[in-house]
Parts: sequence; C-alpha cells; structure tokens
Amino acid sequence: MERHEQLGDRKAGQARRVVSRSRLRTDALPVLLRPVADQAARHARRVLDQAASHRPRRVSRRVRTGSAMAMVAQGLSGVGGSREWRRTAAGRCGRHSGVAFHALALRFGDRVPRLVSRHRNCVAAAGVVVDLLGVLPGVSQLSALRRADSPGRTRAGRVGPRRRAADASMRARLLDLLACPTCVADLELLDAEHDREEVVRGELACRRCGDRFPIAGGIPRFPPATADDRVRSTAQNFGAQWRVFDELAAHHEAQFRDWIAPVRPSLLRGKRVLELGCGKGRHTRVVAEWGVDEIVAVDVSDAVDVAYRHTRHQPHVHVIQADINRLPLKRVFGYAFSIGVLHHLENPAAGFRAMVDHVEPGGAVSCWVYARENNGWIIRVVDPLRRLLFSRLGPRALYAVALVAASALFAVIRVVYRPLRSAGVGARLFYADYLRYISTFPFREIHTIVYDHLTAPTAFYISRDEFEGWFRDAGLADVVIAWHNANSWRGFGVIGSR
Ligand SMILES: [Zn+2]
Repeated sequence: MERHEQLGDRKAGQARRVVSRSRLRTDALPVLLRPVADQAARHARRVLDQAASHRPRRVSRRVRTGSAMAMVAQGLSGVGGSREWRRTAAGRCGRHSGVAFHALALRFGDRVPRLVSRHRNCVAAAGVVVDLLGVLPGVSQLSALRRADSPGRTRAGRVGPRRRAADASMRARLLDLLACPTCVADLELLDAEHDREEVVRGELACRRCGDRFPIAGGIPRFPPATADDRVRSTAQNFGAQWRVFDELAAHHEAQFRDWIAPVRPSLLRGKRVLELGCGKGRHTRVVAEWGVDEIVAVDVSDAVDVAYRHTRHQPHVHVIQADINRLPLKRVFGYAFSIGVLHHLENPAAGFRAMVDHVEPGGAVSCWVYARENNGWIIRVVDPLRRLLFSRLGPRALYAVALVAASALFAVIRVVYRPLRSAGVGARLFYADYLRYISTFPFREIHTIVYDHLTAPTAFYISRDEFEGWFRDAGLADVVIAWHNANSWRGFGVIGSR
C-alpha cells in the first residue's frame, strides 16, 4: 500500500512537471494544434486532481493516465516546439504512444474487450513499434524541416548554400541559351570567376537594358514575374517540399515514362530539352541519361538547389531558377515538357503557351495536368481545405498532418487495392485506377504524394476540352491527348512552322 502511494507521488510529480512544461510550449504550436494540446493537458491535470480521492491502487493508475495524457500534450507541443524535443523526437514519440496505449488500456479497462486489457503490455509495445516505424524515416528529415522553415534562404540575390568552389558553378555554354527575360537581348557575364569550362561566381547582365541577375550556388537566378502573395507562397511551399522530400527512387523513371507517353527516350536523343518546373530534379536526371544534347531544368522555387545537387555529376544538365511566365531563354529547344506544374500556375494556359514558344518548329512538347473529370470529391472537399488550411500550416505541421493521412492511405492501398490490382472487382473500388497505380509505391512516396496534394495554395483542375484547347490554340500538330489513371490528362503535340 505504501509502495503504491510512493509510486503515485513520484508519478504525480513527474506528470505535473510535464503538464506545466507543455502549457508553456503550446504557445509555440501551430494554431490548429493548440486546442488539442491544451485539452490533453487539461485532462491530465483533472485526472491528477481526482487521483487524490481514490484508493492507493487506483492512484497509481490514474496518475499514469494523467501522465500519459500530459506527455501526449507535450509531444504535440513539440511539433512546434523546442530544439531539445526535436533532437530526441523518435525516442519520445515511441514512448509517448506506448505510454498512451498503456494508459488507455488501464483507463478504459472495463470497457475495451477483455483481450486488449489482459494484453495491454503487448498493446503498449505495438504502440511503440508503430510509432517508431512511422517516425524513424522522418527523423533524418527533421533538420531539413527546420531548414524548410526559413524559405528564401537561397533566393535570388542572396548567397547560396556553401559548397566547395568547383562544386558550385554554372556551365559557361549555358550563356548561349540565355536571353534577358525583360527585353530578350543577349546576356553577358560580369565579374566572372572561371574554373575551366565553368563559371564559379559572377553576374549576368543584359546587353541592352542593363538588368542584372546573380549566379549563386552555381545557379543563375531570375526574379519571378509577379510579387503576388499566392504565387510567392506556391513557390515557397514547393521549395520547402522538395528540400524535405529530396530523395530519388528507382520507380521515378517508370512513373516519368508514363507521364510523357507516347514519347519514348529515342525521340529525345541528340535534342536540346527544356523542363519547366523541375522540382528536386527527379525527371531531369532521368532525361539526362537518354542521350540528349543538353537539358535546361527550370524552377521558380529554391528546389533548384536540390535539383542542382542531384544532377551535378551529369555534364549535359543546366539548372536555372526562373518563372515560367518570364523565361530567360531563347527559342532553341527541340523538346519541352512540364509534369504536374502548369495546374499550379495562376494562368495554366499562359504557362503552356510559354513552353510552346521556346520550342523550335518541328520540335515537340509534353505535359501532364490534374483532370477536372472524375476529381469532383477532390475539388469539393480537398481543394477548399488545402486552400484555406493545409497550405498555410507551414512545413513542419504539414509534414505531421501528411504523415498521419499517408499512414491511413498506405494501410488501405496495401491491404485492399494492391491485392486487387488485376482482379475485375478491383476496378469498382473508389478512385480505383489511381489508388491501384500507387499501391506498389513505398511509404515514403505515399507521404510525398499526400504532402504534395496538400501544400499548394493554387491548383486548377483542367477539363479535357480546356486541355485540348491549349494544343489547338498553339497550332500544334499530331496531338495525342490521353487519360492517365482516370484522374489526369497527358498531352503531346508537335510545333508547326509558324
Ligand atoms: Zn534586357
């Protein structure tokens, strides 16, 4: 009996300290999570207060419940919280959910199935394992998340990430492809510091209007066409996304081939290729291996730093930071593509036109966009939530939200959609084509996909008529428009002589 009282006292002391700490930290939380953390902390305090009036055995149980709730509150606080929390995130999360599971089994012991209450230690252990599985792959990303919280670090005009000089340089022959985004005149290199064929440092200046553009971190950087808030935050959010989800995977090539079908690698051989919206460079590095003459990868966000890192070893790749609506390039390309990007522009049709206008007659373009058809539930439910809520959360909170949603999605597609991939009945499942398509992807890719779908403030869903209109208005020939996974459009067309 005495032992229980001592245990109760000790636990109560620990729990009270946790509660008071978590209350301090909730101020640092994203607004959305604050009420949850506050409520958990309030509940914990109530349980601790009630504990005083119970028999000793109950005291220790009640205190443990309160303690667990308090730690959950603290864990939530940690999402927006201190550096110390992040440093030990994995261990603590595992313990939190283990303790929470354990406490719930104790707390509701008479109301949960007897099996659960009898094997509560197993339940607790399962909680720890589940949590560690979910959190561990993310831990290595925590420092990236922290970096992602300071967007614009490497934007035009600022100093890029520190690299050894020879590792961060622009290839001099890119200069032949560049044109002033303001007046289309040639650019010249000023104050250049060379290392053989490469420009380590310098500035680009227009020969006619005198506008100047810095080369930072090996990447020439051109300012966006507009200072509009939504445009800026779209770029910022995707920049943060690709700095966090920066890994490359083997299945990216097959996915890319699906997106540009019916184009085959042989069509690109010897061509000068333009990629609009390269993100982390996952397509860039694939195309660079297809025998192309050169590929210029463009992105408006500072994901260009990640793309640069992934393609640095490939001699035919150039990465530049620029806006699709203000491209600093001449019309010198034989093939251009844009995958999953145009629908995030304020004016997707204008973006398509800009792509076409940089391809020489006889060249071709490919692009892939979200479809309006078959996406009614996304347009009605997900899109408003994304616009008003998810796109405003900030990288760390969105990472956590996407982790939870991705875990649920991953469980469903692995248990239901994957086994029914080729079965006839599988075709009648909700959103069957797409979910069966992604059902073989690893968890990390599902997490990326969910994050990607929640982060953009701007996303348009394009109908087939509208999509065909882009190709018609641009006077393209041999147009092929096809349905992809019954939720998106991919299109191909050849530029006529105009
Ligand atoms: Zn100019």
